[in-house]
Amino acid sequence: MKPVRVRFAPSPTGYLHIGGLRTALYDFLFARSMNGKCILRIEDTDQSREVAGAAENLIETLHKLGIDFDEGPGIGGEFQPYTQSQRLSIYHKHAEQLLDSGNAYHCFCSPETLTAMREEQQANAQFVKYDRRCLSLSKEEIAKKLAEGQRHVIRLKMPENRLFSFDDIVRDKVEMDSAQSDDQVLVKSDGFPTYHLAAVVDDHYMQISHVIRGEEWLSSTPKHLWLYECLGWEAPIWVHLPLILSTDRSKLSKRMNDVSVESYITKGYLKEALLNFVALLGWHTSEDRELYSLEEMCSAFSLDRVNKSGAIFDLTKLDWMNGHYMRNLPVETIAERCEPYFISSGLDISDSHKYLRCVDVARERCTLLPEIVEYSKMFYLSADLSAEDIETLALPDSQKVLSWFAGELPKAMPLDADKIHDLTKQCTSSTGIKGKGLYTPLRLALISQAHGPDLPNTFAILGDTEAISRINRYIIQ
Ligand code: GLU
Repeated sequence: MKPVRVRFAPSPTGYLHIGGLRTALYDFLFARSMNGKCILRIEDTDQSREVAGAAENLIETLHKLGIDFDEGPGIGGEFQPYTQSQRLSIYHKHAEQLLDSGNAYHCFCSPETLTAMREEQQANAQFVKYDRRCLSLSKEEIAKKLAEGQRHVIRLKMPENRLFSFDDIVRDKVEMDSAQSDDQVLVKSDGFPTYHLAAVVDDHYMQISHVIRGEEWLSSTPKHLWLYECLGWEAPIWVHLPLILSTDRSKLSKRMNDVSVESYITKGYLKEALLNFVALLGWHTSEDRELYSLEEMCSAFSLDRVNKSGAIFDLTKLDWMNGHYMRNLPVETIAERCEPYFISSGLDISDSHKYLRCVDVARERCTLLPEIVEYSKMFYLSADLSAEDIETLALPDSQKVLSWFAGELPKAMPLDADKIHDLTKQCTSSTGIKGKGLYTPLRLALISQAHGPDLPNTFAILGDTEAISRINRYIIQ
C-alpha cells in the first residue's frame, strides 16, 4: 500500500465550521493511526469569497485544539507551496494540456446568456447544465475571440453516456451517470482555477492517498475521476463523510445552529470535549464507549467505522461531555483555562491556593468555563443581601449562631474540615440551634446566599481570616 497522505483543504472564507473540524480531525486521526502524513492546504482560488486573516485564524484554532499538520503553509514540506493562489502556473499548465487533448474547451458565454439558459431549462423541467454552444466554435473563431481579449472560461468536456463507478470507503460502491454532470468550469474568467481543477492537480502532486471530505462533494467525484483519467493520473481513495444534522434531522446550518468552532471555544467548551464530541459525529468504535482522549482516538480510529447515515449534532451530549471533562481533567488544567474569564471579570485570583480550591469546588457544579466564574463570585465579592436576608440575619437565633462562631473560630485556627464539623455540633449543643437555623445565617454571612458548597469547603476557600471577618460583619452589637 502507498504511504498514507491525507490533506485538510479549507477555503479561507471565514471561521472554522464544525464540519471542517470533523474533516480535519478525521484526517489527523487517520494519518496518526496509519503512521502517515497530514497536510494542510489552503484553497484560496475563490478570491471573491476570501476573508482576510481567515487562514491564519483557522490554523490557530486547530493548533489550540491540538491538531497540527506535518506539511502546510508556514510549516513547509516537499510539495510546497501549499496555498493554491501561489500555484497558479501549475493549474494553467494542466488546463492547457486538457485543451490540447480536446478534453476541455473555451467558453465565451456571458453570465446573462448562462442565466437565460438556466431559466429556460428550468422552465422545461430539464437537467440544468451548460448546453455546450461554445463547443461548436471553430479554431479560428476561438483564436479571434481570444486575440480580442474576450472574457472566457475553460470548461471540462464530460464524456457522454458514461457510467462512473467508484469505491468509497464509507459508501462502498457508488455509481453515477455522466449525464448528471455539467461541463464544469475549470478556469474562471479571472484566470483562477476552480476548486475542481486545483484540488485534483494538487492531490496528484502532493501524492494524496485518501481524499477525506464532506458528502456534499460526492456528486462532483465523477468530474474529478474524469480529470484524473484525462490527465493520465491515478485517482486517490475516496472517503465521503456523512452529513451533520440538527436534532430535527435538517442539515446543520449557519442560520439555525451555531456552527463556528471558535464560538464554542469562546463559550467555554473544553478542547477535550469538543474533539471527543466531533469525533463521534459519524464514527464510533466497536466498544460501547463514548469518552476518548485525543491519544486514545489516534490509536482507535479507523475509516471502516465511519457511518453512511447523517450524524446528529446534539448539544445536550456536548454539554454532558464538557461536564465530564470539567470534573475529570486535573484541577490545575481547569484553573488555567478559566483564568482569562476570571481576569476579564475583574476578580483578583492572585491567591493561587484560594483560586485552586475555588475552581475545584465550582467545577463539580458547572458545565462551561465561564460558569465557574459566576459560581466563584460568592468567594471573591461581597454581594448585597436582600432585605429578607438581612432580616434573617438579624433574628435572635441567627445572631446567637454568628456570635458563637465568632467567639470559637479564632481559638480553633488553623481550621480544617474536622474542626468545622466539630464546631457545628458544639454550637448546636451549646445554643440548641440546628439544621437550617444554623446553616442559613452562616452561609448568608459567609457567601451572601443561603445555598452553596458545604461549610468545610466554604471555609477552606475563603481562608480562616476572611471567613471570620465575614461572620463578624453581620453581628449586631
Ligand atoms: N476547499 C474545499 C472546502 O472547503 C475542500 C473540499 C475537499 O476537501 O476536497 O470545502
